[in-house]
Amino acid sequence: MQKEQTPQVPPRIRTPQTVENTQSTQPDTHPAVPTRIVSQPLCDSRLVSLDDDSDDYEDPDLFYPAVHRLNTPDREMTLQVPGERKGRYSSLCSDDEMLDDDESTQWQDGGISNQQGSVYLPSSGKLPAPTKEDSSQLTAVIKMGWLDKNPPQGALYYQRRWVKLDVDYLRYFDNDKDVYSKGIISTAFITNVTSVGEVKFEVVTNNRTFIFRAESEVERNDWVTVLQDCTRGRQPRSTMSPSSPLTPDYQGYLELRGLRSKLYTVVASDKVFLYKNIEDYRIGVGITTIEMNVGNVKETDRRCFDLTTPYRIFSFIAESEQLREQWVDAMRDAIGEALSNREVAERIWAEPSNSLCADCGALKPEWAAINLCVVVCKRCAGEHRGLGPSISKVRSLKMDRKVWTEELIQVFLLLGNERVNSFWAANVPPSEALTPSSCSEERRRFIGNKYRQGKYRKYHPLYGNQGELNNALCINVQCSDVLETLSLIFCGADVNCSTGMASWPSPLSLANAHSQPLQAELISRNLNTELPRSEVVGDMDPIHYSAPTCVSHNGFLFKTASMARAITERKGKEEFSRRWCTLNDGTFSYYESDKNSNPNGALKASEIVCLAVEPPEKHGYDHTFELYSESERLYLFGTDDPDSHKEWVKSIAKSFIPATAEPLLRLGFERIGRLKCKDGLNLQTSKVGWFALVGSTLHAYLADSQGEEIHLRKLNELSIQQDNEVLVLVERGRTLYIEGERKLDFADWCTAIQAAAGSGGDTLSQQQLTETDIPVIVHSCIGYITQCGLTSEGIYRKSGVNSRVAALCERFRRDARSLRLREGEHQVDDVSNTLKRFFRELEEGLFTSKDASTWLSAAAIQDESMKISQYQLLLNRLPHVNKATLQALINHLYCVQRFSEMNQMNLHNLAIVFGPTLFQTDGKDFTAGRAIEDLIQHYTSIFEVDEQQLKRQLEEITAIIRMREKLSTKFPSTEPGGHFICTVYLEEKKDTAEQHVKIPGSMTAAELICEVLDRRNITVRDKEYWSCWEISDKEEMERPLHYQERVLPILHSFGTDSHLLIKKHVAMDAMIGYLAGKGDASKHGMMKFREERSILGLGLSSGSFHDRYFILNSNSLRMYKEVRSNRPERDWPVKNLKVYLGVKKKLRPPTCWGLTVVYESKKQEKPERQQWYLCCDTQSEMREWYATFLSIQYDGDLWPQDGLQQTRVSRVLPDARHGNVSLIPLRGSENEMRNSVAAFSQDPLALFRDVR
Ligand SMILES: [Zn+2]
Repeated sequence: MQKEQTPQVPPRIRTPQTVENTQSTQPDTHPAVPTRIVSQPLCDSRLVSLDDDSDDYEDPDLFYPAVHRLNTPDREMTLQVPGERKGRYSSLCSDDEMLDDDESTQWQDGGISNQQGSVYLPSSGKLPAPTKEDSSQLTAVIKMGWLDKNPPQGALYYQRRWVKLDVDYLRYFDNDKDVYSKGIISTAFITNVTSVGEVKFEVVTNNRTFIFRAESEVERNDWVTVLQDCTRGRQPRSTMSPSSPLTPDYQGYLELRGLRSKLYTVVASDKVFLYKNIEDYRIGVGITTIEMNVGNVKETDRRCFDLTTPYRIFSFIAESEQLREQWVDAMRDAIGEALSNREVAERIWAEPSNSLCADCGALKPEWAAINLCVVVCKRCAGEHRGLGPSISKVRSLKMDRKVWTEELIQVFLLLGNERVNSFWAANVPPSEALTPSSCSEERRRFIGNKYRQGKYRKYHPLYGNQGELNNALCINVQCSDVLETLSLIFCGADVNCSTGMASWPSPLSLANAHSQPLQAELISRNLNTELPRSEVVGDMDPIHYSAPTCVSHNGFLFKTASMARAITERKGKEEFSRRWCTLNDGTFSYYESDKNSNPNGALKASEIVCLAVEPPEKHGYDHTFELYSESERLYLFGTDDPDSHKEWVKSIAKSFIPATAEPLLRLGFERIGRLKCKDGLNLQTSKVGWFALVGSTLHAYLADSQGEEIHLRKLNELSIQQDNEVLVLVERGRTLYIEGERKLDFADWCTAIQAAAGSGGDTLSQQQLTETDIPVIVHSCIGYITQCGLTSEGIYRKSGVNSRVAALCERFRRDARSLRLREGEHQVDDVSNTLKRFFRELEEGLFTSKDASTWLSAAAIQDESMKISQYQLLLNRLPHVNKATLQALINHLYCVQRFSEMNQMNLHNLAIVFGPTLFQTDGKDFTAGRAIEDLIQHYTSIFEVDEQQLKRQLEEITAIIRMREKLSTKFPSTEPGGHFICTVYLEEKKDTAEQHVKIPGSMTAAELICEVLDRRNITVRDKEYWSCWEISDKEEMERPLHYQERVLPILHSFGTDSHLLIKKHVAMDAMIGYLAGKGDASKHGMMKFREERSILGLGLSSGSFHDRYFILNSNSLRMYKEVRSNRPERDWPVKNLKVYLGVKKKLRPPTCWGLTVVYESKKQEKPERQQWYLCCDTQSEMREWYATFLSIQYDGDLWPQDGLQQTRVSRVLPDARHGNVSLIPLRGSENEMRNSVAAFSQDPLALFRDVR
């Protein structure tokens, strides 16, 4: 180290090993300060930092310590940290310039470079949209590129830096692959950005000026513009967000191992910020931020702890053990924050329209105005905050964890930006609309207009009439229509008005009383909201809720005798009698003739429950309709005059349909009427709904809500349940239960709805469709092939088994929705051929008979760009369903050929197969193939595909393939016999201890143990209790399988973080001894108990261990608050408990004798899983409890009397049941698919890690 004092040495010398070696073994002293500097006035390094009032962050003194600074004698400020992956040293330095001669090694890692490399843009690149690059930098990058940065105080040379700008920070990095920056400048502290000579510009903060040099003038100007945009009008302290370091959760000085001076470290929400010192912190100039969603914190030694991220390990040393605890706690909280936060955001975004800012349309908005029910981006959120909390209550989806109650989340999912904007932004002039790139000025104006003035909102019909508004609010909060409540509130209804009811005096209490928690949530968020004050003042005519208008109509109709059953047979003219009919004063009457004054019969309009219009010529009279009465009678009327028929249908419908459902009358319905129903929001009480069936669309008005349409061919499920009493319609996001209040009309509704939901013919649009308007059959086949067939050689070229293909086609035709393609059950080549056959036989074809030849002639166009635009033109001429289907198919084929190394189906091969199929030609004409080849090859430009999205899709597919490979090593696909090969470890989990064992369905743990021991030639001695353990690394728990327990179900039940291990059960002897000395298997006593309390379903736990008294007997485990309590707090059936040894350390068990208990109830209707923890004071206590559990569960049979060997039986044929296990559910949205893949790995983050 002596050499460092000599002036000739280059500015910085890295001597990692040396530095490592000089570290003091006494952590209490400054470890990195070599002892040789005793002659220098050695200060506490913190003081050094505080004294540092140089106005330059780069601190040039550190280059020339002898000249400039006496109190910083040691210029070796590098930190040596072992790189996580390669065991290589990487270095961190708080000082930029110190590292400049060492570009390649600092902050490096192999892990993310690929990821980043694929994302960054050329230096001039401006990102078109926020890009999610890696999980550690979630904020959208506004601009990034290479710049030269001037070191401080006039040094003449520049350093090349990779510079990134997001809304909050300007960050600069050594290179474009680094995750952790060299420096960050908070944009909130930037006071000015100006161009200076050459191609330079200055970024000015109150205390410092940073000079950057661009490569060109254009580039420089661009930087200046975006920086000015970004910093203009920002007020450092008022726009403070919860994740800002200015609102820290914990802060102070921490030493980074190997670094001489301490760093001022700030934990704020889900991030950790590092600053050189507290002064820098105050002026918003830091070193780097660490996103804690990828962090892990581990205590290492007394005052030390490691913060590990995939990119590097930060080894911190706190000032005392006690402070270490606090730092660790704070950082762990930050991790919890980061993880749970994403959960809220991701849940909110599950409603598609919530993934775009409600105000400007920016992607993935992370903020919300919780009273206005809009999800907005960060920049818009800033303007919302400017309106003040009395108008907009702004919260973060990612940071304000506590505010996001289940109800609030549900409100946001139910409403969604799109529906809410149908109110807030019903009348936005295009010239005023925002875009993601609108400037702050425009945003402020628009958001003020929208919410403060309510300028663009859709006026409620009752606007201006306070009494009626309040009244309507009181009525509406009793039903589930939250949007109407929003509209009422923001059109002036008073949320604090009196309902006039003593027991429920306010709308809030009324909503609660009617089990409308979402209504209550919305109201309670607006109890003191300042309502929009429109500047447009005008007289609005008050409109009242009106009673149905009186209808009157009369004329001759032909009528059959009324009956109590459905009419299935054709009624000839002779069965009808001519009647004079009148509709008057809400009564429909029929008379012998128009001369009679006493009707033969009458039906009150209020008794009519359904009116069905029969298809023409069903009966003897050409035009007929049926009326269903409340008392379950059916009346059939007919006429030959279509106009008269129409008139009657209209008039009768009008007489019994209430004003609230009045728009139904304007439809050309086949059937209209009322039914009782329930939906997902309130299953306790059913309500009256008014329905009209038109083609394959069911129009509905439920209670007082707005009309909605249910597209029957797009339903996820349609079934009749509970002995034909409930019709269940499942569509995305909700389930509607229609109840059979009366048998007669209900049965006919069911028939009609089912018919309407089936595929209506052989054209594309007549198929059952997905939400995105793709035929279910296409969606299912593509999904299946994507999951199971992409690696299958010759996919789409090989033919399937004809009879099976035909059967599949038929099943799809009958009800595509109900068919689930399953691996094992269905063969890849059968499915691929089913898809081909569907397109080949499609009436009108995918390209429509009208345009098919034009598509083919486009293929002959020579000029590529002309050709592409011709395709685009044709694409836009296709009917919507055809277009969506074509895009889905080409997207799929594009993916197939991307994996052609595995499946051998390259672009050309696919085109040869699909050309004649899609154009329905005989295959002699090669233009069909050429057209398909074009479509696949130019897929991204013809369909204007978002490349990022496509890239993600391909990554996902790669992940699926990898996952399947992983699964197939763990549970290799079923062999002919239907058993699995699994990896079992002997004594220790390491490669050399691996055994691959075939596991037939019938294999018991004892058999597995014997098999493995046999292979290794291990003889079992007396009192050696070799057991097979189920070990979960993630939960840090293990459980010996009972010797008779079947192995295969265990393998199926656990994820990739668990494994099987054969090792001795050392406590078994003690347990058997304990049980032998005891009369009955029961036990009671104190244990410490802790529950896995789930925050937002994430399984993040909170709380701690508490003493509880337990009684365990032959059928249940009961928990009492204390010994004297006479009623148990909890009571679990022992047979549903799985008890594991060990409690994960994260939960801080008070003793090391812990048990993890999993309670699983597999009741059909409500499967349940809970996990909780017990801690005993001593090891023997724990063994006794554990032995008692086992003894009860296995009837005292803990170990075979004559040893394991004797339990072996000759193997029977393997259990074939497991042959068809579908590893990954195949149907459902992309999201579901992703979730199920993730669920399979039992670790939702694992998949994302894999993708990376
Ligand atoms: Zn926005």
